[in-house]
Amino acid sequence: MSVLVIAEHDNVSLKVATLNTIAAALALSGAVDVLVAGDACQGVAAEVAKAVGVSKVFVTESPALANALAENVSSQVLELAKNYTHILFASTAQGKNVAPRVAALLDVAQISDVTRVIDSQTFERPIYAGNAIATVQSSDALMVLTIRTTAFDAVALGSNAAPVQTMQAVTDSGLSQFLSKAIAKSDRPELAGAKIIVSGGRALGSAEKFTEIMMPLADKLGAAMGASRAAVDAGYAPNDWQVGQTGKIVAPDLYVACGISGAIQHLAGMKDSKVIVAINKDSEAPIFSVADFGLEADLFQAVPELTQKL
Ligand SMILES: Cc1cc2nc3c(=O)[nH]c(=O)nc-3n(C[C@H](O)[C@H](O)[C@H](O)COP(=O)(O)OP(=O)(O)OC[C@H]3O[C@@H](n4cnc5c(N)ncnc54)[C@H](O)[C@@H]3O)c2cc1C
Repeated sequence: MSVLVIAEHDNVSLKVATLNTIAAALALSGAVDVLVAGDACQGVAAEVAKAVGVSKVFVTESPALANALAENVSSQVLELAKNYTHILFASTAQGKNVAPRVAALLDVAQISDVTRVIDSQTFERPIYAGNAIATVQSSDALMVLTIRTTAFDAVALGSNAAPVQTMQAVTDSGLSQFLSKAIAKSDRPELAGAKIIVSGGRALGSAEKFTEIMMPLADKLGAAMGASRAAVDAGYAPNDWQVGQTGKIVAPDLYVACGISGAIQHLAGMKDSKVIVAINKDSEAPIFSVADFGLEADLFQAVPELTQKL
């Protein structure tokens, strides 16, 4: 078994999702190689070389790879593909952008959103918004997998010192061009990797109430902010706060859901959280079925009181 993980990064630092993906790779093989494709990204290669279980790091640098365009990154991956039985990507926006192209060019079926490795050919993945788990088996000689990062604990960046090998960059495919990116700036932790998330639902009633009621609690806990889709659709919270089937999949140590009913599409994004606290005034709300601690209360009273006591 030979496994290659495609690192996710911004040319400066490694995304934690890569460490979750390496953990999944280690369930397949004791030795895992990593590809860092980018520009001026030697620092990222040095960082991932410290990750537990990594045998070798390939690094390739070119302006054509700076923005992780799927057309160029997939060509780079193909340069190495023939040496591997499994190629793993994180199931993130970036991974999901590149992996299908790699699978198509290799003429194999991608196995998406893997949550468990049973053996080298057999994997589990959630279907129907996480209400059923499919066991998928593939006989392809080379498998392309995307890994649901919340299902695998990140490997440590320990005292490992895997060799870093520079490889030649592919030429620009010319098929796509990077124009610009708009990144939301926030002092808060990134939602997808946050240890604590404070999340609000439609019950908040306005963006002002999110700021007035939810933000102080998030500030006290050093938490990322999350929201239900209903809250996002109503304009109470920005789009990138959405947790759920069509939002972000999260699994923090603590998830505090306030005024969120707990529709299956929301639960699909947060039910793997280690500890779930729900505040809802309806004792029948489905969120209480997954909550470790439930408070049947009006959030407009309970949340400020909780914030004050913390
Ligand atoms: C294809 C599809 C994909 C979807 N994807 C997502 C997704 O990714 N994420 C997502 O969240 N949803 C998603 N949804 C929507 C989902 O079905 C629900 O509509 C949505 O999650 C409901 O949001 P909510 O819980 O904030 O609102 P509501 O269902 O309106 O619930 C509000 C809750 O607040 C409680 N409440 C009201 N006032 C108070 C108060 N003062 N104090 C305390 N509690 C109070 C109520 O008892 C209620 O339980 C999706 C739906 C579809 C069809």
